Amino acid sequence: MRQSIRLGTISGIPVGINWGLLLVAAFYIFNLAAGILPASVPGQTSTAYWAFAAVSVVLFFGSILAHELGHSIVAQRNGINVRAITLWLLGGVAELEKEANDPGVEFRIAIAGPAVSVALAVLFGGAAVVSSILFSSGLLSFTFGYLALANGVLAAFNLLPAAPLDGGRVLAAALWRKNKNRHVSRATAAKAGQVFGSVLLAVGVFGILSGGGTFVLAILGFFLLSAAGAERRRAETLNAFTKTDVASAMQPLVAPVSGGITVAGLEAMSTGLERPIAYPVWGPGGATGIVSSAAVNDTPVFQRVSTLVGDITVGWDRFVSANLNEEMSEVLRRSQAEGKPHVIVYDRDSRQVGYLSFESNLIPLRDQMSSTQVRGA
Ligand SMILES: [Zn+2]
Repeated sequence: MRQSIRLGTISGIPVGINWGLLLVAAFYIFNLAAGILPASVPGQTSTAYWAFAAVSVVLFFGSILAHELGHSIVAQRNGINVRAITLWLLGGVAELEKEANDPGVEFRIAIAGPAVSVALAVLFGGAAVVSSILFSSGLLSFTFGYLALANGVLAAFNLLPAAPLDGGRVLAAALWRKNKNRHVSRATAAKAGQVFGSVLLAVGVFGILSGGGTFVLAILGFFLLSAAGAERRRAETLNAFTKTDVASAMQPLVAPVSGGITVAGLEAMSTGLERPIAYPVWGPGGATGIVSSAAVNDTPVFQRVSTLVGDITVGWDRFVSANLNEEMSEVLRRSQAEGKPHVIVYDRDSRQVGYLSFESNLIPLRDQMSSTQVRGA
C-alpha cells in the first residue's frame, strides 16, 4: 500500500495514510454532521455538529491505527519486523516483513488486532455511559457510543473466519496446529475468504442494482475475493514446492555466451534441446547476468534477428542465491522477501550451476508479495 502522507513513526514503524482515506473521511464527516448527528441529537449548533463529526472520524481512524498497532507490536515481539502501517480506503494495512513460522505466533499476531478493537469498544462504551450521566448535551455520549459501535463492528467483521481477514488467520493457525501443514491450512482459510468475498460482492452488486447504497460492500467483496485468490494460489504453490529441491526444478547453466550476439544466433545454438537451459552472459566487464531459453522463446520471432542477447539478459541485481539441495518453498520465500524473482544456483564448490525464475513460469511475484506481507484491517 502506497503511503501518500507520512504521519510519523510509532514503535519504529512508519505510519502513513493513502489519499483514498481522505475521500472516505470527508464522506463520513459530512454524513455525520449533516445527517446522523442532527437527527439523533437535535437542537445543537451546526458548528457543534461539524466539530463532533470531525473528532469522531479522527478517533475512528485512530481506532483502526490502534488495531494495526496491535498486530504490529505482537509481530515485533515475536521477531517479525513491520515495514509500515498504512490507513487507506477500506481500513488499515500492517506490512509484515515475513510470515510467522509457528502456528502460535500466527494466532497471537492475528488475534491482537481484534482484541484491541474489542478493548476500545468497551472503553468508548464506558465513556458513553459516564458522559451521559455527567453532561446534559447528548452529543458527547452519542459520539462515544458511535465509536464503541464502530470498534465493535470492526472486531466482529475482522473475526470472520475468512482469510485475509484476521479470523481467517486464526482459522489457518488452528488448522496448522492440527494438521502440521501451514500451506494447506492457509489455502483452506483463503478458500473460505473467496466464498465470503463472493457473497459480499454479490450482495453489494444486488443492492446497487435494486437502488441501495451498498457500493462499499461490493468494493470490499471484490477486494477480499481477489486478495483471497492470490493468497490461495500462493499457499498451493508453496505446498507443491515443499519437498521439491532446487536441483530438480532448476534449469542447468551451460557455456557462457556473449551479450553481443543476436537472439536468433543464440536460438540457433540451442535448437533441439529437450529441456530449458540458461546461459551466463558475458559483457566487456565480465558476467552481466543470465539469459534463459524461455526468454529466447518469449522474444517475438521477427525481432530475434535485431535483438541482442544483452537486451534480454536478466541482470544480477534481480537475483537471489540458492544452494542445490535447498527446498523450493524456502527459496521462494527468500525471493519474495527481497523482491527479486530470479535465482542463481550454486553447487558445493560455489560454482554457478543453475537458474530458476519465479517470474514467468509460476505466479506473478507481485501477487505473492501482496498476499504474504500484507495483513488487511
Ligand atoms: Zn486486523
